Amino acid sequence: MAIYPIRTFGDPVLRSTTKPIVGIDDSVRTLAQDMIETMYDAPGVGLAANQIGVQRRIAVFDAQDERGPRVMINPEIVETGGEHEYEEGCLSVPGHYWLIVRPAFVRVRAIDLDGNEVEYAGDELLGRVLQHEVDHLNGGLLIDRLPKRVRKKAMKELREETMRLG
Ligand code: ZN
Repeated sequence: MAIYPIRTFGDPVLRSTTKPIVGIDDSVRTLAQDMIETMYDAPGVGLAANQIGVQRRIAVFDAQDERGPRVMINPEIVETGGEHEYEEGCLSVPGHYWLIVRPAFVRVRAIDLDGNEVEYAGDELLGRVLQHEVDHLNGGLLIDRLPKRVRKKAMKELREETMRLG
């Protein structure tokens, strides 16, 4: 078990598309466990593999319900509905929150650690986190969801911040 450093804005791995996982072996199980630990340590409610530099299509989340931590392998969004605006943040863009408009409801099809096909469906926090993590696995970031003008301003701020870190 290990806690990984979380990659932040400017790291190209966050813009990379992850590769589907073929076959669930010990390396996938260990990765999932490490990702859950890293998520809780952050602390956050979701984490995608490329956020720790691993280009595989797997994410973990905990929607703060009675279900505890869950794993989604090769997730795809199969249904969305409604619209909802919500203040959203990201472990890879620490210290920033934006009002993001997304579908309110989402249904995701994925594979769990036992290799079974599973569906996760929900709105509110669960709906948000599912969409946010699938975006990551597709090389997306929450700022992509901002209206053009707001996005430009956000990008400028983030670039300046990254430079200061040097
Ligand atoms: Zn994120």
